[in-house]
Amino acid sequence: MGFWPTWKVSSIFAITPAQLRDRGKKYVLTDLDNTLIPWNQKDALDQVRQWAQTLRAAGIQVIVVSNNNHHRVAEALADLPIQFVARALKPLPVGIKRALKDFGITNAEAVMVGDQYFTDVVAGSLAGVDTIIVAPLVDTDGWNTRINRFLEKPFRHLIRVHNWTKPWSHEKHAKFR
Ligand SMILES: [Mg+2]
Repeated sequence: MGFWPTWKVSSIFAITPAQLRDRGKKYVLTDLDNTLIPWNQKDALDQVRQWAQTLRAAGIQVIVVSNNNHHRVAEALADLPIQFVARALKPLPVGIKRALKDFGITNAEAVMVGDQYFTDVVAGSLAGVDTIIVAPLVDTDGWNTRINRFLEKPFRHLIRVHNWTKPWSHEKHAKFR
């Protein structure tokens, strides 16, 4: 439905190869900060590595689409087998479209995952791909993101209660917030 996230899930790490395959997804495009890596803990990479390797073993590729600059993204992903597009200009769709083109991905086989409605979900929708909104990995953010979070509040509320954002899976212990 338009600019609405297609699915919601508590965390990107709860997304499994089987669930992706069921929906015809072969590429996970993902935001970096607070979706894949906590914004203030750049060394929390073991979980990311494990998750990306599990997907890769199932033939599913993870590609970061970040608004950060090349240097910053390259540094954050240094030891990981994950490719990326930097300076994506979300909420504009250009970065996501560049990823689709550069990696030869069709819209139907991609899903965009992110923790922010106004950047990740809007950009994914404008680029014509399905989207998953996740809860941010940590509750505190940099000042610019805090402003976004404030503006997002009514949207997150609707995402939480509304039927048109479907749960990605039947998670028992973790909840979207
Ligand atoms: Mg983010």
